[in-house]
Amino acid sequence: MSLPQFKLLRPRSASEAVEFLAKYSARQAERSEPAQTSRGSDSRGRLSPHVPSLLQSPHPHPPYVPLRVIAGGTDLIPSMRQKLFEPEYILDLRGISAMRGIRPQPDGGVEIGALTTLRDIERSDFIRQHYPVLSEAAATVASPVLRNMGTIGGNICLDTRCLWYNQSLTWRKGCGFCIKKDGDLCHVAPGGSKCWAAFSGDTPPALLCLNAEIEIVGPAGVRRIALHEFYTGLGDSYRRLQPNELVTCVFLPESSANYRGVYRKLRVRGSIDYPLAGVAVVMKRSNGHIVDARVGITAVNPAPMLVMGVSEMLTGKALDEGLAEAVSDLAARTAKPLTTSALTPEYRREMIRVFTKRAVLAANN
Ligand SMILES: Cc1cc2nc3c(=O)[nH]c(=O)nc-3n(C[C@H](O)[C@H](O)[C@H](O)COP(=O)(O)OP(=O)(O)OC[C@H]3O[C@@H](n4cnc5c(N)ncnc54)[C@H](O)[C@@H]3O)c2cc1C
Ligand code: SF4
Repeated sequence: MSLPQFKLLRPRSASEAVEFLAKYSARQAERSEPAQTSRGSDSRGRLSPHVPSLLQSPHPHPPYVPLRVIAGGTDLIPSMRQKLFEPEYILDLRGISAMRGIRPQPDGGVEIGALTTLRDIERSDFIRQHYPVLSEAAATVASPVLRNMGTIGGNICLDTRCLWYNQSLTWRKGCGFCIKKDGDLCHVAPGGSKCWAAFSGDTPPALLCLNAEIEIVGPAGVRRIALHEFYTGLGDSYRRLQPNELVTCVFLPESSANYRGVYRKLRVRGSIDYPLAGVAVVMKRSNGHIVDARVGITAVNPAPMLVMGVSEMLTGKALDEGLAEAVSDLAARTAKPLTTSALTPEYRREMIRVFTKRAVLAANN
């Protein structure tokens, strides 16, 4: 599958990147997505999907985005080959050295540049010592080659995944386009109007457990938000990020440092695959009792999620099998997997239960 043509923009600083974003993302008003406006071939002669016009559609498609940001490219490039994205411009962040690096802060927390590779995070002594759950989660992403390229920012911003979406244009056209891209129906939940594609990044559940915040910059300025506010819970518009905005940094607070951490993940091929269910656990203990604990799950909902009620259930207690099982029930109830992947929803939910129990017991040891 060939890559669509695009123009490459290579800023050297975050402010230059924002200038490019302001200039080229604004062009979306001048041009609408070919698939929404025409049948047959688009303005560049490519095949465009057959869908009803926007006016007839009960599911208005998101506006065409003429610019896409690229960091490591390990997710964006395969998606472009599948014609899931056909931007006119690619904004390559890799020349912005200020967006790379792990910087412990004077207040004890740490700032991680969005371009820091997963390999650097996995290998960082500082992260391993103070935020071990992040180190463990980063080490399970894809394969060593992909972790050398893939960044933490790209992992946070990762597109949601579905059996019916992560396919070639020919395949999607043959089966019928769906709500997430070019169509009006959902193959996973027929009759519904929501996309349930699963968020399948490994580090976000760990980052949620660590109460991470992210910095977002764009023409409107800089904002800092809690990571849990970044995700919408929708499979199609899955993140609160404007097309003209960038994630520049991740912050981990001092208050989350030195928790024990464990990450467990289900995948088909242990050497490379995306998670089909993932569980992150952090725990702090004192005098044999739990002082605080959090559980985050991934790949079983359209957003990574913290499991509510875990801290209340565990704080002040000494962990035993029964308590670990009660926490794993909470996690299994939070997971709402559907048929978005090769393994059945029932199995993935059950594995959330199994991994949560194992991870909670491991974090306690
Ligand atoms: C075979 C294979 C296996 C994989 N397995 C896993 C896995 O097990 N676990 C997992 O989590 N991932 C997996 N991935 C996906 C990917 O490798 C990682 O998620 C990686 O962290 C993505 O980072 P990147 O820098 O390459 O992102 P890119 O591909 O560059 O970007 C991904 C998305 O994020 C956006 N983006 C990137 N950086 C920013 C930023 N700073 N601000 C705003 N938007 C941004 C891009 O526009 C794009 O939409 C796999 C990929 C492949 C090809
Ligand atoms: S869940 Fe899958 S089939 Fe349904 S709209 Fe989303 S991507 Fe398409």
